[in-house]
Amino acid sequence: MTRLVMKFGGTSVATLDRIKRAAKRVGREVANGHEVIVIVSAMSGKTNELVGWVNETSPFYDAREYDAVVSSGENVTAGLMALTLQEMDIPARSWQGWQVPLITNGAHGAARIEEIPTANMDAKFAEGMKVAVVAGFQGISPEGRITTLGRGGSDTTAVAFAAAHGAVRCDIYTDVDGVYTTDPRVSSNARKLDRIAFEEMLELASLGAKVLQTRSVELAMRFKVKLRVLSSFDEYDETAGTLVCDEEEIMESKAVAGVAFSRDEAKMTLISVADKPGIAAAIFGPLAEAGVNVDMIVQNISEEGRTDMTFSCPVDQVKRAEKAMEGARASGAIEYSELVADTNVAKVSVVGIGMRSHAGVAARMFQSLRDEGINIKVITTSEIKISVLIDRKYMELAVQALHDCFELEKA
Ligand code: ADP
Ligand code: ASP
Ligand code: MG
Repeated sequence: MTRLVMKFGGTSVATLDRIKRAAKRVGREVANGHEVIVIVSAMSGKTNELVGWVNETSPFYDAREYDAVVSSGENVTAGLMALTLQEMDIPARSWQGWQVPLITNGAHGAARIEEIPTANMDAKFAEGMKVAVVAGFQGISPEGRITTLGRGGSDTTAVAFAAAHGAVRCDIYTDVDGVYTTDPRVSSNARKLDRIAFEEMLELASLGAKVLQTRSVELAMRFKVKLRVLSSFDEYDETAGTLVCDEEEIMESKAVAGVAFSRDEAKMTLISVADKPGIAAAIFGPLAEAGVNVDMIVQNISEEGRTDMTFSCPVDQVKRAEKAMEGARASGAIEYSELVADTNVAKVSVVGIGMRSHAGVAARMFQSLRDEGINIKVITTSEIKISVLIDRKYMELAVQALHDCFELEKA
């Protein structure tokens, strides 16, 4: 018996009919001789609704209770999927994270998986169970509290189970038929990739391509999980979807493999901070403690010992960042004249392992944005990516311009 992991995202389990459709796919893999671990997300829209309820009830909420509420969507779909399979005479049962138990650390809202014991589930498979349906996105902390893995975390649940159980493959069923050169909802000539390298997928995901959660790609890379992204709506065939694999398994080596974007960014500027040793630590220490995910950082040249410090963070963390900075100012750790928040920015990035060997990618990118009259506010680069912060209203335009400029529609 070989074990297979199949993960169904929110749109793939959005209605009872779709759960049935997904269950039929699971049934086919059981007929193929697999023991299947099915990971389910909440029905589409459910998690957003739950997050909204938490924020409305308590703006600076207790993260443990956030997790108690927000994890619940997956419990419903796990039970419904198990029932649907049972109706098809397939021996199946559901498992919530704590029942597995999927043990995480205590970082509520963005917990990391520490351990997935398999004995419990192995015993059930040995007794004749064919499908274990697991509620994605959730686990249990060492303190015994329910945790969640961050938005999109069911992908990570799936890959972690595949690693723990030595699964032959981890299939991520979603609402697009694979990984594209950019989000097909933004660019009509986005091209589906047959393969993408782990490193590229990792960057695309962390820069906003939500087709896979970043942590899931990291885990797949580390534990050599065969990871495939495919549609739960198309007719199935063995070569469907996109395989995320090692760089060596890919023939084409373009400078740029894809364009990613993140709409929900904010640019924060601390005006007139003292330019002295320790100032960056005094600013970014409290931000880290407050759980603000700082991304880009720019420090201006100083005049008369004062400088401006700019950083970007997710737009929904602006209040948290402001509170942390006001706290640091009140305690005397930092001084500044003003904190300006620009909540109308977006980040657009180009990614490609080919950048290591192709020169001039940044210049082409900047020229292309210039030709569209788009002003760049902040730039960051790494070995295989270049990101810019721009006005949000130009985001789609920038994505399309960069997609055209690097001719990503061509294989
Ligand atoms: P699920 O609910 O199945 O987890 P998600 O909404 O999390 O699905 O992820 C799938 C979505 O990711 C697609 O509908 C698509 O809009 C978006 N997406 C962003 N970038 C890409 C990309 N490069 N390739 C494919 N899809 C992408
Ligand atoms: N339901 C969770 C979310 O919407 C987890 C997931 O779907 O992967 O973020
Ligand atoms: Mg997702």
